[in-house]
Formats: sequence, structure tokens, C-alpha cells
Amino acid sequence: MGISYFNTLTRQVEPFTPREPGRVSLYTCGPTVYNYAHIGNFRAYVFEDLLQRHLEFRGFTVTRVMNLTDVDDKTIRGCRAAGVPLAEFTQPFKTAFFNDLDTLRIERAAHFPEATGADHIARMIEMIAALVERGHAYQAEDGSVYFRIRSFPAYGRLAHLNLDELRPSGRVSSDDYEKESVGDFALWKSWNETDGEVAWDSPWGRGRPGWHIECSAMATGILGPQIDIHCGGEDNIFPHHEAEIAQSECVTGLPFVRLWMHCKHLLVDNQKMSKSAGNFYTLRDLLDKGWTGREVRYALLSVKYREPLNFTSDGLAAARSALGRIDAWSRRLDETAAAVGEPLPPDLNVEAFGAALDDDLNISAALGALFELIRESNKRLDAGELTPGQARTLAGWRDAANSILRFEPDAAAIPLEVEDLLARRAAARAARNWAESDRLRDEIAALGWTVKDTKDGQKVSKS
Ligand code: AMP
Ligand code: ZN
Repeated sequence: MGISYFNTLTRQVEPFTPREPGRVSLYTCGPTVYNYAHIGNFRAYVFEDLLQRHLEFRGFTVTRVMNLTDVDDKTIRGCRAAGVPLAEFTQPFKTAFFNDLDTLRIERAAHFPEATGADHIARMIEMIAALVERGHAYQAEDGSVYFRIRSFPAYGRLAHLNLDELRPSGRVSSDDYEKESVGDFALWKSWNETDGEVAWDSPWGRGRPGWHIECSAMATGILGPQIDIHCGGEDNIFPHHEAEIAQSECVTGLPFVRLWMHCKHLLVDNQKMSKSAGNFYTLRDLLDKGWTGREVRYALLSVKYREPLNFTSDGLAAARSALGRIDAWSRRLDETAAAVGEPLPPDLNVEAFGAALDDDLNISAALGALFELIRESNKRLDAGELTPGQARTLAGWRDAANSILRFEPDAAAIPLEVEDLLARRAAARAARNWAESDRLRDEIAALGWTVKDTKDGQKVSKS
């Protein structure tokens, strides 16, 4: 059975086939760096991480792009309020974002383009010029350039809107607008004094790009005119992704994206977590309360991306206890495992996990399969019925599953004192002084560390 994912465009779960066999291009809308990303944003990024890792687990090479929106209405407002240049204002939020990605064990994208990059601005201007030339865009009396939505009959298809049923409400200059006020949207915003120093030259005078053209330019500029998968949170469907389709397809003349995937919002007290509502937590807030990145990752990952997820400390506590069970099982496997694997008995079903993910990233079923495996293999370990060879095979499978889940414990830093004893023990073993080697092993154990001799040398772990 192949992989199937839900496509927002068709509202159906469809078999996934990339344009080029074995290769997937993936564009994911990144953070607007006017503040610290909140845990809701990270629900979207963790879902996209699961998607990328699942595809890699199934043997695809994934080229992922995640943009940073470092110029838009909000970043400009922020830098004006702070009284500093735009780049100075956004830099700390960029740095914090990358730290948070690492804390949550999110695989780095191949490219993190920034909207203010000179090449990207040039491409935005080029695309807007092509749109004007072909009659899809026009410069209005306010000096800004707008996309003429009536020139693209497919506008509204992604969000399943029927334009004929909506009352046109004229032009919209802000990046975010409601379905009720759909109208021609801004591609290039002509400078006004609230923009301060933030402006670039263009054929339409000084100004700055709209948010939507930024993503079209960075996506097609880096990945080419056609992309396999494009993701975001559900709030991106309209108007952002709708606008991206219109702009990109009117420039390239080709279908822009094969598969659109969107995660449901993370909720707090059943409301969307958002900066504007002020009901948000940052990752830092949760780390300060004593939760770990691994626990937050588990809490965000363990609910299917198309199901609502209400964020609570009970959810984090459940993540902590689930990880504790996985860790205990994992340690038992390592303690039992022989060097060489043996086939597993048929009732230890390791295939169900991947099969569940193949079915539209059904993580609940995948984790269900993992815990079933833990239960069954623990029973056999209790009864002395899991052979060391089977434990080795199961440990190998666990490591493969962890290439997707990344639930393994943080590697504990080895204290210098233990490093020193390990070096002395390696020397004693090289000199075949087994008595000294055993004595040093006990000394290391007394410090709370267990040393194992493997074909790759000594391996130490926290006892
Ligand atoms: P922004 O920084 O607002 O441009 O959002 C960055 C990404 O986070 C986008 O893909 C949004 O759709 C997503 N996002 C924002 N709020 C939430 C939320 N509460 N739950 C899930 N995803 C969200
Ligand atoms: Zn975007």
C-alpha cells in the first residue's frame, strides 16, 4: 500500500505521487518574525516535520523550503514602535526561532529564505511586472499594485468559495482579509510615512511587497514553477494560499502545487492560540515551567494534524508519562539485546506503525501500534520469552521509528570525571589489564554511569 494524504484542494485523501519519482519538493510557510513564535505556530511546524520525516522514512529525498516573513505590516509596525531599523528588530526573533526548532527536534529545512533578501525582492518585482503586463494586475490611484481577482477564474477554489455569491467589496490593502470582503489584493504597497525607512525602488515607485507575493516568489524562485506539497496552518488557506496560487499560476502558466496540506489550529480554552488574541505560550514559557522540548514535541505531535488539539498542562503531563513508558521499554531492550538480530515472532507487528502514517499521517493509530508493541514485548520480557536476538531487532526498529518521532531521551552530557575514567579504562583494556578495566567500570558505576563494551568501543549511558 502506498502513501495517501488529505488534499485541501479536493477535500479528499488521495494517493501521493511526486512529480519526480523518489523526490519531493515541499514549501512550508514560516514565521512572521515580529515576536517569538508561539506553540500554535509550532503545531504547524511539528506537523510539517512529521510529514518530512515520514516521507524520508519511506525513502523519498525531500527538499524543503521554509520562508521567514521579515517584512510585512506587523514587522514594520513592530520596528516603528521599538524605534529601531527593521533588520535589527527582526534579528532576535529569527535567532530564537532557530533555537526553538532545535529544542523541538525539528529537522532543518534545506533553505530558509528571508523575504528581504535582495534576490527575492527582485523576483517579487519581476513577477508583479509580468502580472501587470498580462492584465492580471494594475496600479491603482493610491500608487499600489493590486491583483485583479476577476482575471483568474480559479480564485476561491482552494477555500471553496464561489466568487459570484460574494459581494465584491473593492480593494484590500492589508495582507489579511476576511472571506466576506474578498477583493483585489495588494501585490506592491506604495510607500507611506508609517513605513518609515522600509522601502525598495520598483517600476511603480518606492514601496514594499505584500505578504502573499513574497511566498510565491520564494517558492517558485527556489523550488521551480511546480511544487509537490505546500503546507501551513488552516488560517493560511484564505487568503494567503489562495493568493499564492493566483499569482504563481498567472506568471508561470502551470499548476503551482499538487498537494495542499493544512493543520488545524492549536486551541487554548477552545480558542485559536494567536498573538493577536494574547492567549499564547512561547516555548520558553513552557521550558521555564520545567517542561522539556521533547515533552512539548510529544504533546504537539501525538494528535493527528486534522484533529483539533486543545493545549493543556494535562496534555503535557500525559506526554511526560508516555515518554517515561517508552524510555523504560527502550532501556530494557538495550539491556537484553544481543549483537545480532533475529526475526520477530509474527504477533509483534512492527509494520502497523508505518502503515498508520501512510494513511494520512494517522499518528494516533501509529502511537497505538507502538504502545501495543511495547505491551506485548514487555510481557515477553517478563516471561523471559523475548530472545536477545529479537530484542536487537526490536531495538533496530525502535531507532527507525525514532527517525520520525524523535522521542529518544536527550543525550546526557558526560561529566569530565567520567570521561577521564573512560580514557583510563580504554588504556587498561588496550594493555589487556582486565582487573583494572573492571575496577574502573565499578568506579564509573559509582558515579551513576553504565559502561558497555561494543565493537565500536566503550559506550556509556546514565544508569
Ligand atoms: P505566522 O507567524 O502568523 O505567519 O504563522 C506561521 C505559521 O503558523 C503559519 O503556517 C500559520 O498557519 C501557523 N499558525 C498560526 N497560529 C496557529 C495555531 N494556533 N495553530 C496552528 N498553526 C498556527
Ligand atoms: Zn506563505
